[in-house]
Amino acid sequence: MKVLMNDQITKRNDIIIDIEDRGYQFGDGVYEVIRVYNGNAFYLQEHITRLIRSASELKMTLPYNEERLLTLLNQLVAENQLIEGNIYLQVSRGVAPRSHQFPEHSEAVLIAYTYKAARPLSLLQNGVSTILTEDIRWLRCDIKSLNLLGAVLAKQEAVDAGCHEAILHRNGTVTEGSSTNVAIIKEGTLYTHPADNLILHGITRQIILECANDLCIPVREETFTVEQLFAADEVFISSTTMEIAPVTSIDQKTIGSGTPGPLTHRLQQAFEEKIKTLKHPGTEI
Ligand code: PMP
Repeated sequence: MKVLMNDQITKRNDIIIDIEDRGYQFGDGVYEVIRVYNGNAFYLQEHITRLIRSASELKMTLPYNEERLLTLLNQLVAENQLIEGNIYLQVSRGVAPRSHQFPEHSEAVLIAYTYKAARPLSLLQNGVSTILTEDIRWLRCDIKSLNLLGAVLAKQEAVDAGCHEAILHRNGTVTEGSSTNVAIIKEGTLYTHPADNLILHGITRQIILECANDLCIPVREETFTVEQLFAADEVFISSTTMEIAPVTSIDQKTIGSGTPGPLTHRLQQAFEEKIKTLKHPGTEI
């Protein structure tokens, strides 16, 4: 497997991570996960725009410009001959003697690699079980930072309960999942938490809002409560890797009919159309 380290594409074994890398010691950095369908990085530009925003919120600058990054990531996908899978990309503030404040001199360290991953087709079709737990994360969840302990603990709680995802709430208001956004459908309207500091502004969430608009499904970017979550007609989670996954139960309580709902299904179909328009880079259009 080839790995992108700063601006060099090289072999994994040739990479050296410094023990004083701030990503390693403080989680001081940002990341993205980008889906590859049919050899094409899906919504790559949007992911890179979000990465640059996350970095800028942490007062970090990337080691080179956006155009170069897009070129190198496409090159990485091609060199690894990845057809279906993900790109993981992270940028740390760099290497410096360990001290909390920003170092006077450090250069961001960028690493990206790819891995094969099949689409979660059976979960998309049959839905997922979830738990509800408290959102104990910090107040800048809009920054896709390397610090993921709140999410890690919540996901483990879900896995320990035999579930796929933990849905998070702050004082009874649903925010998002540990690694997904959450939406509910009630009487034909889609509700999702506003894109503020309490949730990650998911790229998949954004695509879903576009699809809902195309399908004339009314959308309200408004907060909703735990009571509204349990009383929803349909609930789904979304992310780059999970796409649009229907939620069939929360804390063992059935949601709606207990099977994937009709509006979730229509959104899944609209999403599928977007994937289908992607051609393999070598294919004539
Ligand atoms: N919220 C959180 C906390 C996440 O970690 C993710 C996954 N990156 C998402 C939402 C979904 O974002 P996206 O659709 O951009 O993958």
